[in-house]
Amino acid sequence: MRINKNYLDLQDSYLFSRISKKVADYKEKNPEKDIISLGIGDITLPLCEAVVRAMQAAVAEMGTKEGFKGYGPEQGYGFLRQAIVRYYQKRNVSLDPSEIFISDGAKSDLGNILDIFSVDNVVLIPDPVYPAYVDSNIMAGRKILYMDANEGNNFLPMPDESLKADIIYICSPNNPTGAVYNREQLQAWVDYAISCNAIILFDAAYEAFIQDNELPRSIYEIDGAKKCAIEFCSLSKTAGFTGVRCGYTIVPMELVYDSTALNKLWLRRQTTKFNGVPYIVQRGAEAVFSEEGYAQIRQNIAYYLENAKIISETLREMDVWFVGGKNSPYIWLKCPTGMTSWEYFDYLLENANVIGTPGSGFGKNGEGFFRLTSFGERQKIAEAMRRLSKI
Ligand code: PLP
Repeated sequence: MRINKNYLDLQDSYLFSRISKKVADYKEKNPEKDIISLGIGDITLPLCEAVVRAMQAAVAEMGTKEGFKGYGPEQGYGFLRQAIVRYYQKRNVSLDPSEIFISDGAKSDLGNILDIFSVDNVVLIPDPVYPAYVDSNIMAGRKILYMDANEGNNFLPMPDESLKADIIYICSPNNPTGAVYNREQLQAWVDYAISCNAIILFDAAYEAFIQDNELPRSIYEIDGAKKCAIEFCSLSKTAGFTGVRCGYTIVPMELVYDSTALNKLWLRRQTTKFNGVPYIVQRGAEAVFSEEGYAQIRQNIAYYLENAKIISETLREMDVWFVGGKNSPYIWLKCPTGMTSWEYFDYLLENANVIGTPGSGFGKNGEGFFRLTSFGERQKIAEAMRRLSKI
């Protein structure tokens, strides 16, 4: 037996363990200090009422002879796929339920989708980036090219004719930078992908944070995208499902490569390796798309976005360069006075007792930058901003 040696090429992720260690050391020496974290990458508000009620009703249904459900359809129940079709229709994107695959979250499918692509494809990934894209391709042994996201392009890299790739990752609104592509920019990516027969893997995990109607929330709002893009969505940040686990992946019928429909391959892959998302969870997810549920989750998103606004306004007053903070829960700032990401981390921890995430943990272009998140409590965020202004 031989192991998959590609795993040995993975870099250990020291980012969050190093943060925890630094914070623990500081707390030990300064037990009286009140530390506020703006590094939280998880939602903090509870599930909305409509979702809880729907899941409770589903639990009760499962306890009856008539209502009990065993294995469900691998692709997801029709009621949820229909609800998602209606959700997209509101933005004039028409989908067929057979193009929607219910998942246990975007992370799984972003990695699993690679099963249906040949290993000799070249992959193009932005730097800095959500680390799962890089690691899942290293595990498979694919060649990775990086596209630079930096201050010069407002952390929104555009197609570069000199970088030829087959699989292109785009995340908008972006984690970690909070940057959001506009319609023209996404159109350029779609045109480029079609011109070189590449596929775009579009991560829309934060689409629900987009408030500006001019900004696309789905890649399928862009002409031609159904011919060259798979979209990954998640209810994690949209509706607080990080612990409940539900998302969906859209594989349009028009996606045809090597004379083969990708939808067919992905269906085959899912029916072989996946047994679907629990019925109870799918009923909860359905409630997210109901009128009542959607109004409730909008309130939670508005709460996080107001937090982001408080952070952004403070940074603007201090004349700190940043992107994000609008249409996104993330704020990506340039460390003041040329500090490195970790120097700024230490500076904030020691002088303001505030924690964030060093940008260098997301790729080489993250050096000198810092991520703040708006998922915390309002009062704490306001207090953290007062402390930042002071120092
Ligand atoms: N994509 C991005 C950009 C994320 O930031 C995250 C989670 O933080 C995910 C995907 C994973 O989401 P899920 O909880 O649906 O697996």
